[in-house]
Amino acid sequence: MIVAPENAGLEVLLSTLKNSHDLRTTLGILQILDALLSAGTVKRISYLITKGGSEALLHTLVNVTRILPLDYEVILPLMHLIVKVGQRDKRFGQKAQEIGALNEILNLMKCSLPQAKYVTPCLWTVKICASSVTVGAALGKSGITRFVLNLLSPYTTRNTRAVRAATEALSALLKSKWNSRRAVDSGYIHRLLKLYEDWHQRDMKTKYVLIQAALLKCIKNITNLQKGKKAFLEADGMRVLLSTSQVCGSSPDLHPVIKLATQIMRKCYPKQRLPLLTLRSCYSFVLPNAAHSQVLEGPSEAPQEDVAAEENEEQDDEDGTETEEPGCSEEEDDLETDLSRLKPNPELDRPVEELKQYERLCPELVGYFQDSDSDDQSLSQDNASCSTFFTPSRPLHQDSRETGRGGVGEGSPKQHNLLKNRRTRQASPSSSGIEGENGSKGSPKNHCTHPAKSSRINHSKDKMNQMHLNIQRGDADLSRINTNVQEYAGPFNPSWAIGGEHECQNTGNKLLKMCKEIIPFHDPHVYTIKAEETKSASDYKTLAFPDYWGHMPPRYQEPLTGQWCGGLRAKIFEDIQRLINSGDILNRVIYDTESPSLVTSGDDTSLKFFSNFESGNLRKAVQIRKYEYDLIMNADINTNYQHQWFYFEISGMRAGIPYRFNIINCEKTNSQFNYGMQPVMYSVHEALCRRAHWVRVGSDIYYYKNHYRAYGAEEKGQKETAFYTLTFTITFLHSKDVCYLAYHYPYTYSTLMTHLYLLEQSLNPDQVYFRHQVLCSTLGGNNCPVITITASPGSQREQLQQFWNRQYIVLTGRVHPGESNASWVMKGTLEFLVSNNPIACCLRDTYIFKIIPMLNPDGVINGCHRCSLSGEDLNRQWSEPSPDLHPTIYHTKGLLSYMKSIGRTPLVFCDYHGHSRKKNVFMYGCSLKETLWQSKSSIDTATLKEDIGYRPIPRILDKICPAFSINRCCFLVQKSLGSTARVVVWREIGVLRSYTMESTYCGCDQGKYNGLQIRTRELEEIGAKFCTALLKLKKDALSCSAQLTFQDAALLDLDNELHNDKNMSHSDVSVDDEPPCPEEIDYYTDNCTEDDDDPIDLTTEVDESSDDELYC
Ligand SMILES: [Zn+2]
Repeated sequence: MIVAPENAGLEVLLSTLKNSHDLRTTLGILQILDALLSAGTVKRISYLITKGGSEALLHTLVNVTRILPLDYEVILPLMHLIVKVGQRDKRFGQKAQEIGALNEILNLMKCSLPQAKYVTPCLWTVKICASSVTVGAALGKSGITRFVLNLLSPYTTRNTRAVRAATEALSALLKSKWNSRRAVDSGYIHRLLKLYEDWHQRDMKTKYVLIQAALLKCIKNITNLQKGKKAFLEADGMRVLLSTSQVCGSSPDLHPVIKLATQIMRKCYPKQRLPLLTLRSCYSFVLPNAAHSQVLEGPSEAPQEDVAAEENEEQDDEDGTETEEPGCSEEEDDLETDLSRLKPNPELDRPVEELKQYERLCPELVGYFQDSDSDDQSLSQDNASCSTFFTPSRPLHQDSRETGRGGVGEGSPKQHNLLKNRRTRQASPSSSGIEGENGSKGSPKNHCTHPAKSSRINHSKDKMNQMHLNIQRGDADLSRINTNVQEYAGPFNPSWAIGGEHECQNTGNKLLKMCKEIIPFHDPHVYTIKAEETKSASDYKTLAFPDYWGHMPPRYQEPLTGQWCGGLRAKIFEDIQRLINSGDILNRVIYDTESPSLVTSGDDTSLKFFSNFESGNLRKAVQIRKYEYDLIMNADINTNYQHQWFYFEISGMRAGIPYRFNIINCEKTNSQFNYGMQPVMYSVHEALCRRAHWVRVGSDIYYYKNHYRAYGAEEKGQKETAFYTLTFTITFLHSKDVCYLAYHYPYTYSTLMTHLYLLEQSLNPDQVYFRHQVLCSTLGGNNCPVITITASPGSQREQLQQFWNRQYIVLTGRVHPGESNASWVMKGTLEFLVSNNPIACCLRDTYIFKIIPMLNPDGVINGCHRCSLSGEDLNRQWSEPSPDLHPTIYHTKGLLSYMKSIGRTPLVFCDYHGHSRKKNVFMYGCSLKETLWQSKSSIDTATLKEDIGYRPIPRILDKICPAFSINRCCFLVQKSLGSTARVVVWREIGVLRSYTMESTYCGCDQGKYNGLQIRTRELEEIGAKFCTALLKLKKDALSCSAQLTFQDAALLDLDNELHNDKNMSHSDVSVDDEPPCPEEIDYYTDNCTEDDDDPIDLTTEVDESSDDELYC
C-alpha cells in the first residue's frame, strides 16, 4: 500500500491507479484520494487536475468496467470522484472522448438500471461531459438523449436525485443544436412542458425547485432554435409558463424558476415590427444640394416581414447583461496616438479672405459704438431677411418625400408641408457689414425694413387664438378648469369667472391677468411673437402651454426614485398577457401624426394626445387597455432612428386612476430611467393655480428590451436592431386637466429668442455691452443667434485699450436638440453674465464672451433628438463642415478661425451638452500626454511639453459647483470623436482649454445634491458657476473689482488646491456624448439575481433530501 500524501506522492498514486487492474488496490487508492479531496478546498481538486487526475480516473473507469460482473463496491466511489473532479475540469468531456471513456459511461448507465443510486452518478458524468457542446453532440448521436428523457418522471418523491441528475444531463445535452433539433422533431417540448407543469403544481412545498429549474433549462436550450421557439408557442408554452409564474410569485425559493420562465417567455415572444408603415421620420426635408441627396436618401428598409431568418439563432444573448454601445470595449484602441493629430495644427481650413466676413461678428474690435438712442424696441430683433453671410445660394425646395418605401402603398404617410424657407436673398460679400445685427446699441448702416410691427402683433393674436383652441381641444370643458382655478385662486381674484361663451382668443389674456406668476426672463406675449417667427417642418400653428406660460422650478426637492424588486417582472407579465389574451387588447389608434384618418375615436374614457407644436415629439399613440397606452416617438427628420426625446400633450384624463404609458421605440441599451430618473410633467390646471412647474412624475418606471425589432437597419451595421420600452405610470391629480409630458425640461428655440430679448431689455447698457447678432440662417430658415457680452468701456483712452485687449471666451450649446438640459445651463450662464453680481461684473471687465446658445435650432424646433435637418449629428461635422449642410457649424468654426487669424484665439471654448446615462455634471477636455499615457503608446512623453492649463477649470468647478464631479472628467482624445467641437477647436484653432461640459438628465450621486433629481434651478446654477470658475484663470482678475465680497474672494482663492496636482481620473475613456453606463442591469429579471449553475455536490445532496432512501 502506498501512502503518499505529499506532492510527488500524488503523481505516483495517480499513476498506480491508472495502471491498476486489481480492484482492491484501486479501491484503496480511491479512498485515499477521496480523503485527500474531502479535507481540502477546491484548490486541491484543481491541483489534482493539473497532475492528470481526470485522465487517471477515466482510465480507471475503462479498466474497472471491463471486469465483469460489475463491482459497484469500486465503481460507486470511482464515479463519486469522477463527478467531484470532473465538474472542476473544463476539458473533462474532451478528455473522456479522447480516452474513449464515453461509451463506458453510457454502457455503465444502461447496465445500472433500474438501480437509481447506480444511475445517478452516471447521469452527472454525462452532464459534465456534455457541457462541451461537441462532446454533447457526440453523446447525442449515440442515442443517449432519448434514453435520458425516458428517465424523467412526473412528480414523485422517490428517486428525486436520479430525476434531477437526468434532467440536468438532458439540459446539458440540449446545448448542442444537433441534439436540440432532434428533440424538437421528437416532440420533446410538449413533454417537457407537461413535466414542468406537473412538478410545479404538485411540488407544493417547493422542495424540488432544482428539478423544476432543470426542466426549464431544457426548454430554454431547445428554444435557442427558431424551430424550438415555434414548437414552444404551438405547445402553448407561453400560457403554461405565465400561469405557473404568476401563481407562485411570492416564494423566494421559486425565484430562480420564475427567472428562467421569464427568460424563456421573453425569448419566445414573437418578434414584431413596430406598428408603423416605415421607421422613417414622418417629416422630411429636401436638402439644398442634390449632390447631398445620399444623406437624405438613407438606407432602404427591408420588406415588412416579421420572421427573422430561420436558424438565425439568438445564442443566449437574451441572458445576462447587455453590452453597451459598440466600441466601448475597444476604448484603448480608439485613443488617438498619431502625434500629428494630437498637436495643434496651425492650418486654417479655408482661405483667410473668406474669414473677413466674420469681422462683422466682432464689432467690439472694429470700434466702439457710441450709444445711440435705442432706436429699435421692436420685438423682432433679428430679421431673417437681413442676415448676410457668405454662403452659396440655395433655391427654395419643395417636399418630394418618397413614397412606396418598404411596400408602402395606399396608406402611405400624407405629405407634409415642408419648411418654409423664407430667406429671401443672398448677400454679396461686399454687403457684409453690420447688417442683420440688432441690439439696443449700434445703428446698423443698412437697416433692413422690418415688417410692420402691427402686423406682427396681429399675427401673434392669431397664434394665441390657435393656442387657446388647443387648450380647448384638449379639454372641451374649460370652465371646469376655471371653476377649479377659482377655488384655488379665489382669495386673490374673487370676481373672476369665464363662461363657455367667451371668445377663446380672450381666454389667454384673461388667464394671464388672473393667474400669471411673474417668471423671470419670460413673457407669454413676447413668446407668442417669437414663436410666430419660428419656422418648422410641419408649420406648427399651436403653442404648447408650458412654453407659452413659462416654468418655475418647484421649491421642493425631487429625490431619485426607486424600483421595487419584482416590479419589472410584473410589467413584463402584463406585456406577455397581450399575446395570450389578445382578445382583451383594444389596440386602438388614438393618435397618429401620419394617418389621422386611421385614428379611431376612443370612448369617453380614452386619453387624447397631441404633439404638433414646437419641440413636440409623439408619432403615434395606441390604446392597449382601458388605462394603458403604447406610445411611439418620431425619428429625427431625414433619418429612421434617434428615438429618445419626447414631448406631448395629454388630455381627457380622470383623476386618481393610474395610467400606464409605454414608450416602445427607445433605442439605447440602458437608461437613467432605471436608476432613479423620472420624466417631467406640466399641468395646465396647476399652472393656473400659480404652480407653473415642470415636475418629475411617474411611478413603476422601468426600461427594458421589448419584442419589437427593426430589420435591415444597415446603417448601423446590424441586421436587427432591438427596441426598448420605457414604461411609467402616472396618476393625474385633476380630471379633465391638460398635461404635458417630456423626456426632460423643454426649452424651445422660441423660448431662447424670448429669453435673449428679455435679457437685453433687462440690462443697463452703460454697464453691460450686449450684442445680439445673427450668425447665419439655418437650413430651415431660422436665425442662429450669436451673443457678445462684456463690460461697456469707459470713454478714457486706456479704458478703451483695456476693452480691446480683453481675452475671448467662446461658449456654444444645444448642438444635440434632445439635450435641453444644455439650454437650461446656458440660460444660467447668460443671466449670470449680465447680472449685477460682483463676480459677473468682474468677468465682464476681464473677458469678452461670444456665445452661440443653440447650434441646432432646426433640430430643437422639430423635436429631433440628435440630428439637424440633414439627418446628421452636427457634432461630428467640425473637421469639414459644409456651408450648405452644416451652416451653424461652418460659421461658428469660421468665427473661431477669424479670431485665430487676427491673433485673438479664445482663452476658453466650451460646448454645453446633456448626458443621458450618467449622473452629475462633468467635463471632457483634450490632453496630449494623458491620451498617450492611457493608450500605452510607445512615444516617449518625457520629451513632449504640454501646458496643463486645461486642468484648473474642472478643479475649480469641483469646489464651487455642487453638481460637478471631477471624478467623471476625462481628458483623452478619441479617434472616433476627432470631428467633435471639443477636439477640432483644440487641434485646429489651438484652444488649450477646449471642453465639452456634460450635464445629467437625471440627478446627482455625490455632493450637496446627492440622491436628488436635477431641476432647472440646479442646471442654471451650473451655468453660473462655470462663469465663476473662469475668473480664476486670470491672476489679476480678482483685483479688478473692489466689490467682490470676502466670500466671493475666498471662494475663488483656490490657489493651493490648484497647484496640488493630484491625479485626475483616467478611468473614463469612453466617448464624450454617450459613455457606457457604469451600472449594469439584468433586463430579464428584476434586481434580485441568482447564481445560475450550482456546483454539483453529491454529499450535500444527502442532507437535502433524507426521504430519498435510494441515495447512491
Ligand atoms: Zn450631446
